[in-house]
Amino acid sequence: MVEQPYAYQRIELTEPDWRRIPGWSDVTTAEWESAQWQRAHCVKNLRQLRGVLGAGLDETFLADLERDQRERATMSMLVPPQMLNTMASSVPPDGPGFTEAFYADPVRRYMIPVFSDRRTDWPSHPYASRDSLHEAEMWAVEGLTHRYPTKVLAEVLPTCPQYCGHCTRMDLVGNPTASTGKLKFGLPPADRLAAMIDYLRATPGVRDVVVSGGDVANLPWPRLEAFVSALLDVDSVRDIRLATKALMGLPQHWLADDVRAGMERLGAKARERGANIAIHTHVNAAQSVTPLVARAARAMLDTGIRDVRNQGVLLRGVNDSASALLDLCFTLLDGAGIMPYYFYMCDMIPGSEHWRLSLGEAQDLQHQIMGYLPGFATPRVVCDVPYVGKRWVHQVSRYDTDLGISYWMKNYRTGVEAEDPLALGREYAYYDPIYLLPEPGQAWWRQLSQATGEYGAGEPAVMLVEDAPAR
Ligand code: SF4
Repeated sequence: MVEQPYAYQRIELTEPDWRRIPGWSDVTTAEWESAQWQRAHCVKNLRQLRGVLGAGLDETFLADLERDQRERATMSMLVPPQMLNTMASSVPPDGPGFTEAFYADPVRRYMIPVFSDRRTDWPSHPYASRDSLHEAEMWAVEGLTHRYPTKVLAEVLPTCPQYCGHCTRMDLVGNPTASTGKLKFGLPPADRLAAMIDYLRATPGVRDVVVSGGDVANLPWPRLEAFVSALLDVDSVRDIRLATKALMGLPQHWLADDVRAGMERLGAKARERGANIAIHTHVNAAQSVTPLVARAARAMLDTGIRDVRNQGVLLRGVNDSASALLDLCFTLLDGAGIMPYYFYMCDMIPGSEHWRLSLGEAQDLQHQIMGYLPGFATPRVVCDVPYVGKRWVHQVSRYDTDLGISYWMKNYRTGVEAEDPLALGREYAYYDPIYLLPEPGQAWWRQLSQATGEYGAGEPAVMLVEDAPAR
């Protein structure tokens, strides 16, 4: 065999033994596999984290976490036992080196961020903003983002069974944190969902609905089934994608009898109508794909739905190497039958600079992962450009690597620029993390921030080319 930069090896899935963790030493398999037990034992605060992991986790870590929650966190803490169990699993929690292993763990880095993880020079990009993709601005009715000509995003609820530190919908999703209040839906849930269905009935040009939130696993099953069933009754809807990180974070939910039976009913109705239902999940690290996750994914495929796909997020310290991405993709594909689909660049929300990669790094990763996976399972690395939409990272039209500004074009209008004759001829900007730039570029941004006072002010993550300061 020719030696290659990446050596493929089939990775056996493992479910780390939760009984090694002091707080769960007497938890039975039946309890572990119960969605109710998992939800009831999610870790939501420092006290619970300390209670579960025991004295092996240093006070320094807890103080670091406490400071992050006080000063930086945009998401509150919510970690299901299933996810916590996969962190630092090779080091006994009561043994030496556990805190170091926990600090270094890729899943910990994005699920339980601490202050020392983040940049102190530029914790946020000057153009970071809360709803960085302007989804609420594009709501056709409350919670229904019409951002692409034929596709909509239905935010059916603002909660998840797990909260990710880098959540792009930090504006809406989860509980308020010390630094970040949350947008509240105004309409009662039933009215909001009914208004979405009414809009889709009246808008036959939309054929594809992403049902998201939040995470659909937090919607009571009868309500989710009724909503998806109503979508299937809309003649023009041909694709429905259910967004749920819980397929990985809380696979017990998708393995529950009532959920499986309901998915079978929906799968049968979709087939009858010639429409497709798929599940889209969000896995960022290979260690998260355990046998239980694989069982849940296969159970969903057995209900007759079209596919289970993964949309991961590129995050520094989590999966920012070709080997980490390929290990993840092969584990998803070989171990769980989950199709690798996208890796998004981390969006420009406040506090995310330490996680974000530059466009150049993302392009390089796309290049490095080509040719190993089957073509149909080779994920596209995409940049979700504000006011433009998802673009493959090589679709950039211009890229100023000194200032870390990439320029993008769009080929359709949203409602926001319906009357704008220049929308399709304009370039839209996206920004690399400033600390990665050459010194003259960093100096330019420091000067801009001082001059405009925009640093950290949460300005929109879009700057039209004509607005850019001269160099
Ligand atoms: S599961 Fe998705 S919506 Fe929920 S916190 Fe994570 S990234 Fe945000």
